[in-house]
Amino acid sequence: MGVLRDLDKLCKNFLWTKQDKSSGIHYVEWKILCKQIKFRGQGVMSTADKVGSWRAKFAWSLISNPASLLNQILIAKYGRKFSFSGIKLGNSPSWKIINNGDKFLQQIVRWKVSDDQCCLKFFLHIGSWNIQILNQTFGKELVDLISSIPIKDGIQGDEMEIIYSNSGKSLAALISDQRSIHEEEDVSWKWLKKLKLRPRVKILWWRLIHKAIPSNEFLMYRRIINHKGCPRGCCDMEDANHLAVHCFFLKDVISVIKKWGYDIPVLTDLENCFNWLSIYSNYNPFFGNLYCSTVFFSWKSRNKLVHGVKEDNLYVIAANLLLFPINWNPPPTEWIKLNVDASLAENYIAGIGGVIRDSKGRFLFAFGFKRTHWDISALEMEALFALNKVLQEWMYDAKRIIIEGDNFNVMKHI
Ligand SMILES: [Zn+2]
Repeated sequence: MGVLRDLDKLCKNFLWTKQDKSSGIHYVEWKILCKQIKFRGQGVMSTADKVGSWRAKFAWSLISNPASLLNQILIAKYGRKFSFSGIKLGNSPSWKIINNGDKFLQQIVRWKVSDDQCCLKFFLHIGSWNIQILNQTFGKELVDLISSIPIKDGIQGDEMEIIYSNSGKSLAALISDQRSIHEEEDVSWKWLKKLKLRPRVKILWWRLIHKAIPSNEFLMYRRIINHKGCPRGCCDMEDANHLAVHCFFLKDVISVIKKWGYDIPVLTDLENCFNWLSIYSNYNPFFGNLYCSTVFFSWKSRNKLVHGVKEDNLYVIAANLLLFPINWNPPPTEWIKLNVDASLAENYIAGIGGVIRDSKGRFLFAFGFKRTHWDISALEMEALFALNKVLQEWMYDAKRIIIEGDNFNVMKHI
């Protein structure tokens, strides 16, 4: 157990100790980090937590393979029916491990009832349950349950078996599943998975959910700095709510994107934002993804400002955003790549936008404009004309140009 705790300690040090060996801030409890992703954790494995499952393996080996040399010695010393013995054998470590493992094992095993040498012989009659005696002894529900247990012939005495033996999971995995069976899955955070965010954006939003972000409000609460206002001078406390919804810089980026036709609604607070993302993750994940990425870029730019570097330009961020949610692969050397996208909202406001980048992913040029339209085919033509309009002289210097978009008709005409 001491070794397992040491292993956990090494993991914790890896997370929370900085490169210069000074200790970093613990934003989220270790317990939360170790929870599975569906329970709002990060699925970090705590070795100390797994000890029960590993001990259960010893107990199961004793039951399923009594002929091995080690097991023969253990059985001779402690008896075979250790599950029911209740014997307290002082401080014997092997007995403690087996006994403790058995407790975990009990969650995933059941009895296989034999018609031969069965300890329930009283309730059996020629290879099947004696319903009459069962009815005299138990209530109806229990009788139904007992009589549904099959009686096996050909085995000598009752045996234990693993309940989900055909699931393909290891013993340890079955026990850990069983332990979390009573824990309710946090359905309200499913959007975080559904939006298919990039890993860094996803981590930022996971931290926003847990209010574990080094905003000025958080740092002041931990007595690291003595002011909690927004470093951009928003005259507002900088907390998760401000970073994800209220900051004026974020609002400015959103208004640029809106001008280009991407219709992002005005959100009132973080709670409202989570609800909106949850709804959009189902029927329009692109917009949800776009919003989450906007907040990520705004946060990145804010960090530049805090560390004495100039903030990113609004338009550069907006242009990056148009591309960011898409899986983008760079073109070959000396080639350039244009990504175009057209979207039609329910209120007939359509947006057409595009970004040109070089082989190193460097941003070269972006365009975007808004149209009111109801005809998707006419809109596609508009997108085509838009391309003609933006293809400039300098672009012909590039060896080749790759034009990428998800609209088949527009791409066909090019
Ligand atoms: Zn602000």
